Amino acid sequence: MKRIVEDRVLDLMVKYESAVGDTGKFTPQIPDIIFETVGRTAGWARFNFYLGKGELDFNVELMTENFGEFLKTTVTHEVAHHCVSLLNGRILSKSGRNVSHGRQWKEMMRFFGIDEPKRCHSYDTFNVSSRKLRRFRYTCDCGFEHNLSIIIHNKIRKNKQTRVCNLCDSQIVFSHEIK
Ligand SMILES: [Zn+2]
Ligand SMILES: [Zn+2]
Repeated sequence: MKRIVEDRVLDLMVKYESAVGDTGKFTPQIPDIIFETVGRTAGWARFNFYLGKGELDFNVELMTENFGEFLKTTVTHEVAHHCVSLLNGRILSKSGRNVSHGRQWKEMMRFFGIDEPKRCHSYDTFNVSSRKLRRFRYTCDCGFEHNLSIIIHNKIRKNKQTRVCNLCDSQIVFSHEIK
């Protein structure tokens, strides 16, 4: 299943590259793909503007329960964030806040064939929330939030493992439990 997601990301990146690749403005960068997000969030797109590389993080549980829709919508949603970051850099509103679902993102979604892009998913989260899986927030040098499941959190604790952020290579550090 993860393999299918990776293939879908690659397909979309090829489509993106074929449309904008000849501008010579940048080298399209395939994002790293991880499956660590848990809880109600379907996916994240993290992007390190300094290094110009990104990572997509998908929720395996929501993906398993809604596979077809997840593949079509959520994967495209996060790839669109990644491509907008590559193409436009950071987009700020007049008041200086990050704009993530603005005009550029919507245009990218339409380019990928999603005519009515939506900000939020509408998956049934009863299972993921009723099981009350504990989740833990970790942070890293580049400031991204990493939400880990209790399974991974315990692995880190018990085996004294270290994990690094794919984007900045710094060790991720436990911050707090997400309530
Ligand atoms: Zn989004
Ligand atoms: Zn980082």
